[in-house]
Amino acid sequence: MTKKTNDDEYRIIPVKNGKVECLIEKIEPIERCRFCVFSRFFRIKGEDVKAPALAFCPRHGDADCIDLSMVESVICGDRKGEGFMSVLNVIS
Ligand code: SF4
Repeated sequence: MTKKTNDDEYRIIPVKNGKVECLIEKIEPIERCRFCVFSRFFRIKGEDVKAPALAFCPRHGDADCIDLSMVESVICGDRKGEGFMSVLNVIS
């Protein structure tokens, strides 16, 4: 499943050496994005694929497994600078 994203709605964060700049001067491994409530899409070969964390969402329960080594950018819905938030905290 792919979807075009809106730069005004999401942050598009490039992956460098398996890491993303989650917040200013706060680097996180992309594995964190896999389980973060703010991840929306992972860009692979220019296509935006639903983030695995959406598999926990009743509305988006069809997210597929993703090879994180292929991800070029993370499309992140965190616009307030909250940073990583685990889906496990939300569903427990
Ligand atoms: S807020 Fe979450 S999805 Fe966005 S960059 Fe940080 S860890 Fe990744």
